[in-house]
Amino acid sequence: MSAVIQLAGRMGKIKPSPTLAVNAKAKALKASGADVLNFSVGEPDFATPAHVCAAGKAAIDEGFTRYTAVPGIPELREAVCARLAQDKGWQYKPEQIQVSCGGKHGLYNMAQAMFGPGDEVIIPAPYWVSYPPIIELAGAKPIFLPLSEKNNFDITEADLAGCVSEKTRGIILNSPSNPTGAIFSANALGLVAELALANGWVVISDDIYDTIVYEGGKLPHILDVAPELKEQVIILNGVSKSFAMTGWRIGYSAGPKHIIAAMNKIQSQSTSNASSISQKAALAALVGPQDFPGEMKKAFAKRLQFILAEINKIPELTCVTPKGAFYVFPNFSNYFGRAYKGRKIKNSVDMSAYLLDEALIASVPGAAFGADNFVRFSFATSMEVIAAGMQRLQKALSRIA
Ligand code: PMP
Ligand code: GLU
Repeated sequence: MSAVIQLAGRMGKIKPSPTLAVNAKAKALKASGADVLNFSVGEPDFATPAHVCAAGKAAIDEGFTRYTAVPGIPELREAVCARLAQDKGWQYKPEQIQVSCGGKHGLYNMAQAMFGPGDEVIIPAPYWVSYPPIIELAGAKPIFLPLSEKNNFDITEADLAGCVSEKTRGIILNSPSNPTGAIFSANALGLVAELALANGWVVISDDIYDTIVYEGGKLPHILDVAPELKEQVIILNGVSKSFAMTGWRIGYSAGPKHIIAAMNKIQSQSTSNASSISQKAALAALVGPQDFPGEMKKAFAKRLQFILAEINKIPELTCVTPKGAFYVFPNFSNYFGRAYKGRKIKNSVDMSAYLLDEALIASVPGAAFGADNFVRFSFATSMEVIAAGMQRLQKALSRIA
């Protein structure tokens, strides 16, 4: 009889991405004929701009279909530097840039290059689902920094201090945040910068939603709050959200030369390089007209206003107004412990399951983001879906006794 092959020990710690899992379930239900309204995955519902697609097609036609340099084609890395300089006023050289297979993979390369057993990395919670597993896959330990709804999910000095130990090596910042839509204040970033400088931490700034900001004024950023920290900061970004290019899989990182070189070593031994075709398309996105992200943001802003108004009609929900990204993250805890037809709703997983089964609305339970009182709804979907979905939500919640 053949043996059951054992998996690596690390597999016991890692679950599949819950956002991608709910999305797959919603799509499968839809394909089987169910009228599911999908608020689960966070990806723009807009088409990739035509000039970007044309650049991808041209790359194929011109035979630009071979391996590229490991860190990415030079002209794309130069374009990233030019964007960072023009849009943010930050100076980087092409050797300080890595192009990866999506922002998620940039984060993975970073964690493999930076962290290992015995290291602790602070992750503000609610957090994006992939941060803890990526840190754990590197052998390091995530330390969760609690953010509270009462404080608009900003970092407080006391909570930050509570996470610090001798083993702390770094912190991951995501502002605007997935899943809360919150933006860290300059004051909070200052607190992080102070500790990072004093203790030699690396600060990973995941800026993937930086083109989707609903407030006026400049988005506070750790590099602007503390420019002297630059040699300790890694910027993570990409074109997935800003140019509706989730499937093209292009992300980029900017940081100190020796860290990017280490990340390139990891990349050279894993994916080699991001797709040559997608790199050409991303180049067109970054050097071409820059009105697309702004146009998309206008549409998201209208949807945000609408979805928030609908959620605020439900007295038992509380919802911090998102300042960026395309998620709302209402608190459902007033329903916990209650029931519908004998079906008890104890937590966010039960609530999301109830909404899917009873109202055909796909959402992501807050537990996936380290915040079990909440449920995430992505409003990167059409107004029609949002309007119908919110009616179903109101009806489904009114049935809970
Ligand atoms: N960071 C955050 C916070 C995200 O929500 C996402 C979306 N998946 C990413 C990074 C990475 O996106 P991608 O890999 O599609 O570039
Ligand atoms: N970031 C998106 C989300 O949170 C995409 C899914 C994923 O990569 O996890 O839904």
